[in-house]
Amino acid sequence: LPIVAIVGRPNVGKSTLVNRLTGEREAIVHDQPGVTRDRTYRPAFWGDREFMVVDTGGLVFDDDTEFLPYIREQAAMAMSEASAAIMVVDGQHGPTDADTEIADWLRQQNVPVLLAVNKCESPEQGLMQAAQFWELGIGEPYPISGIHGNGTGELLEQLVEYLPTVAAEADDAEIRVAIIGRPNVGKSSLLNAFVGNMRSIVSPISGTTRDAIDTVVTRGEQTYRLVDTAGIRKKKQVEYGTEFFSVNRAFKAIRRADVVLLVIDAIDGVTEQDQKLAGRIEEEGKACIIVVNKWDAIEKDSHTIYDHKRDISAKLYFIDWAEVIFTSALTGQRVTKILDLVDLAVDQHRRRVTTAVVNEVLEEAVRWHTPPTTRQGRQGRIYYGTQVTAQPPSFTLFVNDPKLITENYRRYIERQFRENLGFEGTPIRLFWRGKK
Ligand code: GDP
Repeated sequence: LPIVAIVGRPNVGKSTLVNRLTGEREAIVHDQPGVTRDRTYRPAFWGDREFMVVDTGGLVFDDDTEFLPYIREQAAMAMSEASAAIMVVDGQHGPTDADTEIADWLRQQNVPVLLAVNKCESPEQGLMQAAQFWELGIGEPYPISGIHGNGTGELLEQLVEYLPTVAAEADDAEIRVAIIGRPNVGKSSLLNAFVGNMRSIVSPISGTTRDAIDTVVTRGEQTYRLVDTAGIRKKKQVEYGTEFFSVNRAFKAIRRADVVLLVIDAIDGVTEQDQKLAGRIEEEGKACIIVVNKWDAIEKDSHTIYDHKRDISAKLYFIDWAEVIFTSALTGQRVTKILDLVDLAVDQHRRRVTTAVVNEVLEEAVRWHTPPTTRQGRQGRIYYGTQVTAQPPSFTLFVNDPKLITENYRRYIERQFRENLGFEGTPIRLFWRGKK
């Protein structure tokens, strides 16, 4: 079962929360001497999801300075096997230095952390009490009451999102690809080309949404789930004319995908509908490859590729991070190369960068170009940044006041991230957050 570590300084109510999560179930004491001295594992569940809760701090020390190394050692061991952690803090007390230290340490672990602000018995005050803990920089504080149970439902709801399931592991192993584009750009031809090229085909497989049929193909070790291939084929049988195009269906397929192949007709160039689809891909935070198809059908000279690229970067500037590939589903030109680009984009989409590297890039960027100063003489300051999630890679940047960081400067930092860290093929997100 996945393990959830409960971390926090003494007296914040960790055991109360543990009891709340595990009910009256018995603690399982692992009695390997020396190793798990104070760690007890207790089974817990939420809905149909089961997990083990391990309380890292079974001891209470009087002196704040003494417990920190100890709690870290215990927490480190728990963390090495945990799928997620809940950091518990005291909402009636407000953030302490010990909290900050624990939070800083947690941020360096490669484990998703939920921040539970305990002792928030009153819902109205709870939000205010919780808000103080944004400054710990480990994400959204959840007001809860371990004693009464308020707020624990929301916490658990979020928690189980982080826990691996058998299905989720399978999900990560396969790459979900949506083939999107206007009618007649060559989506089904591309699909057929993939299916024809691939060795083993497990097809068709019903998707998670009703009537969405996926086609699963494999290449080497890698499995690709081509999502909603029914949607690509179905339209053929329906006489809506060439103008009909289900935007809604395309949007749904985008949502289910890791990476989207945005297919554009080389003859027509980028249209308004292509722009709309690209916008949605960006909004949904999906990796993307721009496939300019029917490349065989156009007259080419030495400028052709350049002209197309210029048209694309002018009209699809908001996904300028996406690779562009020129293909022919008819002749098969570069069709298999699309999957190479898919692999690369997905790697970037799932990529995680350490806090140390993020801050190296930030420091260097600020050294070249400091945040602007207002006419009143106030200057924006960036304290530090950290990657909070992947898919797409998302970063929180802590600053003195987000209002002081202008749109221009934000774009500058984003460019620096791209120049130094890459992320080809995937959108990235920067969140600017104030910290007193
Ligand atoms: P869909 O509506 O996007 O699925 O497009 P289809 O795959 O049905 O293709 C529409 C038309 O374009 C068909 O007549 C295809 O034969 C043709 N087509 C598709 N790909 C290519 C290509 O790479 N080159 C050329 N010349 N024609 C293509």
